[in-house]
Amino acid sequence: MIYDLHSHTTASDGSLSPTDLIARAVEKGVDVLAVTDHDGTEGLAEAKQAAAAQGLTFIPGVEISVTWESHVVHIVGLNVDVDNQTLQQGLAALRAERFGRAEEIARRLDKAGIPGALDGAREYASDVMLGRLHFAQFLVAAGKAKDIRDVFKKYLVHNKPGYVPGTWATLEEAVGWITAAGGQAVIAHPARYKMTATKRRKLVEDFKDAGGVALEVVSGKQDLEEVRMLAALAEKYDLLSSCGSDFHSPTQHWLELGKLTPFPENCTPIWSTWR
Ligand code: AMP
Ligand code: MN
Ligand code: MN
Ligand code: MN
Repeated sequence: MIYDLHSHTTASDGSLSPTDLIARAVEKGVDVLAVTDHDGTEGLAEAKQAAAAQGLTFIPGVEISVTWESHVVHIVGLNVDVDNQTLQQGLAALRAERFGRAEEIARRLDKAGIPGALDGAREYASDVMLGRLHFAQFLVAAGKAKDIRDVFKKYLVHNKPGYVPGTWATLEEAVGWITAAGGQAVIAHPARYKMTATKRRKLVEDFKDAGGVALEVVSGKQDLEEVRMLAALAEKYDLLSSCGSDFHSPTQHWLELGKLTPFPENCTPIWSTWR
């Protein structure tokens, strides 16, 4: 069985519609797919329908933006009830924060000599969510850098003209909303954050105290050393293991749906707790 428990659609910053994402997952041999858009669940109804039609097991999910000790951290929720009001109220606040941040990003880019970025970024986004990747797409099209990676480095990360960190949910809120909605909270791509090993353990401890249950031990394009390190971390804190590609677009050819390293043997897959 191939599980891919982290992916994006046009309901956040992915380039495929939920229906097209499901079709691609089937084509790539994925058996169980979680759709986990940033700070929203708008793509899930369509994804659920498409998955039922195409014989793929669908897991409703979300990826929540968190500010923790001045770091931005992502918490994935799996098997969430999308009708849960606590979850939806929390996500609505984050989306409002996103639109406010987008205005500020555009103001700063304007000051840096790049006008029209807000409308420009909107061209690449749905109505429900605006993120840095949409600004990146606009900036590449405007000829400001050769590709997305380059544009992030030049404009959209810490200390660059278009960087606005945003103030997101607390760790306790994010885990609380997911748990209130009957879901399981997972720290997304824990090796990607620029923090020391000590700090990462502190994050895991705070996450566990808040009710979090799993680490994303395997994520797309990750070396074996990191996988082993995260498996050991999950074992140390008695956490379950999740895996997900974090697929956004077919143009990111180095990162494909279902293309994931198997877990090391000491891992307990999160799906072992599922009926
Ligand atoms: P946001 O949540 O709006 O701050 O944007 C974060 C998203 O931007 C991530 O989920 C990725 O989709 C994208 N992203 C961040 N850094 C990079 C990068 N260096 N290259 C490509 N995409 C990136
Ligand atoms: Mn993204
Ligand atoms: Mn993420
Ligand atoms: Mn993601």
